[in-house]
Amino acid sequence: MSFTLTPEQEMVQKMVREFSENEIKPLAAEVDEKAEYPAELLKKLSELGLFGMLAPAKYDGAETDYVSFVVSIEELAKACASTAVKVSIHNVLACYPISKYGTEDQKEKYLRDLAVGKKIGGMGATETVSGSNFNEILTTVKKENDAFILNGRKDYVVNCLDAEVFIVSGKDSDGKISVFIVDRDMEGVIIGKKKGLMGLRAAGTASLTLDSVKVPKENLLGEEGKGEKILTDSWEKMKLAISAVAVGIAQAAFEESVNYANQRVQFGQVIGKFQAIQEKIADMAIKIEAARCLLYNLAKEIEKKRGVEKELNILKVFSSTIAVETAKASIRVYGGYGYIKDNPLERFTRDAWGTRIIATPITKLKALIAENILGYRK
Ligand SMILES: Cc1cc2nc3c(=O)[nH]c(=O)nc-3n(C[C@H](O)[C@H](O)[C@H](O)COP(=O)(O)OP(=O)(O)OC[C@H]3O[C@@H](n4cnc5c(N)ncnc54)[C@H](O)[C@@H]3O)c2cc1C
Repeated sequence: MSFTLTPEQEMVQKMVREFSENEIKPLAAEVDEKAEYPAELLKKLSELGLFGMLAPAKYDGAETDYVSFVVSIEELAKACASTAVKVSIHNVLACYPISKYGTEDQKEKYLRDLAVGKKIGGMGATETVSGSNFNEILTTVKKENDAFILNGRKDYVVNCLDAEVFIVSGKDSDGKISVFIVDRDMEGVIIGKKKGLMGLRAAGTASLTLDSVKVPKENLLGEEGKGEKILTDSWEKMKLAISAVAVGIAQAAFEESVNYANQRVQFGQVIGKFQAIQEKIADMAIKIEAARCLLYNLAKEIEKKRGVEKELNILKVFSSTIAVETAKASIRVYGGYGYIKDNPLERFTRDAWGTRIIATPITKLKALIAENILGYRK
């Protein structure tokens, strides 16, 4: 299996690569350390059209294909995984569900601003009791005249600190899940404190409390009681995006290792001449090549709207696993210099671990893959 980018996709790759190298990479360590995202950088990402990649041109989106999307996310992640996660969540968990399930009015009111990055979006699906299982949410929905009253608390909401638009799930008294578009400035919306995460620290992750938030009926996304489908569909796109983040982190660690192996001299020769180091470099290259090939091919399949549930789960497990393995192997290539906090390898390792968890942790994904193979999934 191989993959060749089209000239247009190569152009997108070049543009995002140059931008990431020049504008994002120099700030990545500081952004991670402070766990704060600079407003100036958000503005530049918007100007480049990265916040509306999957949104239709009709609503001012860039309407790029999925391969260009994952190529862009990979390039961003190579420079700064927090940036790549911010952009991913905005595209797949905010723009995408509104594009696919929103009414014309919702698209005019919300998608247009989201697509140009005038507003940032996030999604609150996870709660303290419900992580891998969307159905266990405690957030309640009560119908009241022309509105829905939402009460609950969402956790781990990426972009929470910057977002003005949230896609939020809630459960009615019949146990049915609906999804709503919630504005940050609606009464009763409470943004929590920045979450002290181990990695992906600058993605603006916090909790979102809904204290009797009155959401107008016009803000119901899709059909009432049919929210699970919207969440599952968006989450599938998230698996693709997070896999691109993982491949980007792995590539960054790999490039650092190759450079170092060609510079560091021991026993009168560069360490790249030692077979043990060569084996590590080769293993990294093999894993990244395989993950990228799977990623691009699945991005193309998603474009064709083919059912690829099992393959996406395989991709997410594989790419996040090789990201952690590559980051760890690169520390070994560096020896003592890999054990320094200022070395980016430390950040790559922490960030890589996050890709194992977001968009469903890998243990659960492996269970889904096996159930699929064994014929237990409908
Ligand atoms: C950095 C970061 C950003 C995030 N961003 C968002 C966001 O923007 N919006 C949002 O809604 N959520 C977000 N999340 C939440 C994320 O999606 C959840 O953490 C994830 O779904 C797992 O839920 P959990 O942490 O509660 O783990 P749990 O579901 O409690 O799982 C704990 C462990 O049990 C395993 N497990 C659970 N069920 C099964 C099963 N059936 N079979 C086998 N193993 C199982 C899991 O694999 C895991 O290892 C984010 C999380 C992180 C870390």
